[in-house]
Amino acid sequence: MQIILLGPPGAGKGTQAKRLAERLNLPHISTGDILRHNVKNETLLGKEARDFMDKGLLVPDELVARMLMLRLDQPDVKKGFILDGYPRNINQAQTLDDMLKQRDLDIDMVIYLDGSESVIIQRLGGRLVCSSCAANFHIKNMPPKKSGICDSCGGKLYQRADDKEETVKKRLEVYKKEVSSLIQYYEQRKILHRLSADEDAEIVLDKIICLAQESDDSLKV
Ligand code: AMP
Repeated sequence: MQIILLGPPGAGKGTQAKRLAERLNLPHISTGDILRHNVKNETLLGKEARDFMDKGLLVPDELVARMLMLRLDQPDVKKGFILDGYPRNINQAQTLDDMLKQRDLDIDMVIYLDGSESVIIQRLGGRLVCSSCAANFHIKNMPPKKSGICDSCGGKLYQRADDKEETVKKRLEVYKKEVSSLIQYYEQRKILHRLSADEDAEIVLDKIICLAQESDDSLKV
């Protein structure tokens, strides 16, 4: 099963995608995580991407497409995936369709997590990310058991450079410019489901699982 999570930064895509991937036993592919990994390891791709990311801008489409193509060729993707952070514009949506077609795959479901701006800014302001496994926490809403340490792997938690208020505003601006055409694109294909991201994370996850089960009988227990 191939699922895409769409939504503004701070809607909880990463958190939901990770939990959903665990529950459905599918790989979680986050273009943001892959890019941050490259930046951290100072790869060629990371060096090219860093400036765009620090400014809250999109990394050029062809760079991200190359990176995603490599990930889609990994054997674990054969059973499906949860895609988070891609596509970000129509060009990327079309590129993704082409990549999947070449692999005899199709998108089954697109979940659009919509959140109010005040909730988004509050969430991003307190977000903490594990430097080792990329798990997300929140200073207030989802604090780690031990301050500054990841519950899952014991890695060190940090605040993302692009979660600073000015950069968040830029990221939201970039997001708003592109999202309506993406919504239309998937609505026309009748695979888009809208959910409110302002609700409790557990409730949102249950709703996504129900939708996945409706779309694929083999997931019913
Ligand atoms: P995210 O973790 O999804 O919030 O992404 C963090 C940053 O990585 C974004 O602000 C972009 O600079 C870059 N990025 C992630 N995914 C993409 C993508 N599909 N296209 C272009 N840039 C991306």
